[in-house]
Amino acid sequence: MKIKHCDDLNTLVSLSKRRGFVFQSSEIYGGLASCWDYGPLGSLMKLNVKRAWWNAMTRRKDIVGIDAAILMHPMVWKASGHVDGFSDPLVDCKSCKTRFRADNTDSYINEKKCPNCGSKDLSEERNFNLMFKTHMGPLEDTGSVVYLRPETAQGHFVNFQNCQQSSRYKIPFGIAAIGKSFRNEITPGNFIFRTREFEQMEMQYFVKPGTDAEYFNQWKEIRMNFYTKYGIKKENIKFKDHDKLAHYAKAAVDVEYKFPMGYSELEGIHNRSDFDLSQHSKFSGKNLEYFDEANKEKYIPYVIETAVGCDRLFLAFLCDAYREEITADAEGKEDVRVVLGLHPEIAPYKVAILPLSKKEELSSIAEKLRDDLAMDFDVTYDEAQSIGKRYRRQDEAGTPFCVTVDFDTINDQAVTVRHRDTMVQERIAMSQLSSYIAGKLKSF
Ligand code: ATP
Repeated sequence: MKIKHCDDLNTLVSLSKRRGFVFQSSEIYGGLASCWDYGPLGSLMKLNVKRAWWNAMTRRKDIVGIDAAILMHPMVWKASGHVDGFSDPLVDCKSCKTRFRADNTDSYINEKKCPNCGSKDLSEERNFNLMFKTHMGPLEDTGSVVYLRPETAQGHFVNFQNCQQSSRYKIPFGIAAIGKSFRNEITPGNFIFRTREFEQMEMQYFVKPGTDAEYFNQWKEIRMNFYTKYGIKKENIKFKDHDKLAHYAKAAVDVEYKFPMGYSELEGIHNRSDFDLSQHSKFSGKNLEYFDEANKEKYIPYVIETAVGCDRLFLAFLCDAYREEITADAEGKEDVRVVLGLHPEIAPYKVAILPLSKKEELSSIAEKLRDDLAMDFDVTYDEAQSIGKRYRRQDEAGTPFCVTVDFDTINDQAVTVRHRDTMVQERIAMSQLSSYIAGKLKSF
C-alpha cells in the first residue's frame, strides 16, 4: 500500500466543502475575501479543538479561564502600543521589528532610517490600520471610536487583579481565554491560515521576575507535548527561535508546523517581561503590583505567553490527519481510500451508526441505538448507499468507529464495530457498546 499525505491546500479546501468542514463565507453572493464559515462537521471539530486546549489549560491547578469582551476601552490599545504601532502610515523595521509612524519620525523622514536601531532595511510605507475601528453608540464621531480587539491577551492583563483576587491564586498562576480577534491583514490567504477574523487561544502565565526564563522553557515543553498528544507527527512540528525580539520581549519562540506551503507559525511563546502590566499601570493609574505575602515583597509580575490560533490549529490537524491509502488489485486497478486519521477527541463524530438496510426491523434498532449513544458521544447516522461507500464517507470525515446494525442484530443483540485506521471489525453486544467506545477513546 502506498500512502500519500497532503501536499496541496486545495485538497483540503475541496474536502472541507464536500464534507461540510469549512465553506466560503457568503458564498451565494460570490464570497467575502478571507472569510470562512465552519459547517456541520467543522463546527463540531472546532469545538473539540477548543475543548482540548481549554482543558489542557484550565484543568491545571494554577490556571483560571476568562471570557473577555471583544470591545474594550480605547485606552487599552493606547497602553498596549497597538494604537500607535498599528496606525497609518506604517513602516516595519525588518531588522529590530520596531513599527513606527512614517510621518512623525525624524530619522525616517530625513534619512529613511529606523528610529530604534538605525537600520535601513525597512518595509514600504503602508497607509493601513491593522485594527478594525467601529463606533460605540449612535454618534459616529471621534469620541465614539472603539476597536475590535486584534488579540485576546489584553483582556487577561486588564483582568489580572480581578482574577488573582477573586480566585486567591498565588504567583505563579495563569489566565487562559479563547475568543475572536480581528486584524485587517494586508495579505490574508492560504485558506483558514490567515484571515481577518479568527479565533485565538491565549494563556498568560504570571511569574516572579527572575524565574521567567525557567517558566519560558517549561511552557515550550508543555506546548510541544500538547501537539504530539493530539497526534501531530513529530517530524512536522518544530520550534523556531526569533532572530530579533519585539521591543517588549525578553525571549520568543514560534512553534512551526509544516503546512503544504512550508513551515509556518502555529503558536507563539513569548517572555513578555513586565511590559504589559507596567503599561496598564501607567495608563490607568492603578497599581498592578502583586504582593507576595510569604516574602513580604511587591513586584510587577513577568508574563510568559502562549498564543495559538484556533483556526490555524484546525488546519494543522486537517493537514496532519489527511492521507490517501493507495492499493492496487490483481489487475493493477488502483483504489484510493481517503482517511482523516484525526485523534478521536478532535474528530467531529466519534461513532457512525449504519443500518445494513433501510427496512423498519433494522432502522428501529439502529435509531434507538443512535439516540442512546448520543447521550455520551457525537454520533452520526447514515443509511444511504452501500455499506462500503458509507464506510468511505466516514473515513473521510475522520469518524473513528462505524457501527453496523445487521439482520443478526435482531437475534443476538450485537453489532459490528469497524475501526477507521485498521478497518478491523469486531462483534460487540449493544449493551456494552457505550462503555466499549468510551474505553477505546480513553486509550488513545
Ligand atoms: P503572523 O506572524 O502569522 O502574522 P503573529 O506573530 O502576528 O502571526 P501573534 O500575534 O503572536 O501572531 O498571534 C498568535 C497566534 O494567533 C498566531 O501564532 C496564529 O496562530 C494566530 N493568528 C495571528 N494572526 C492570525 C490571522 N490573521 N489569521 C489566523 N490566525 C492568526
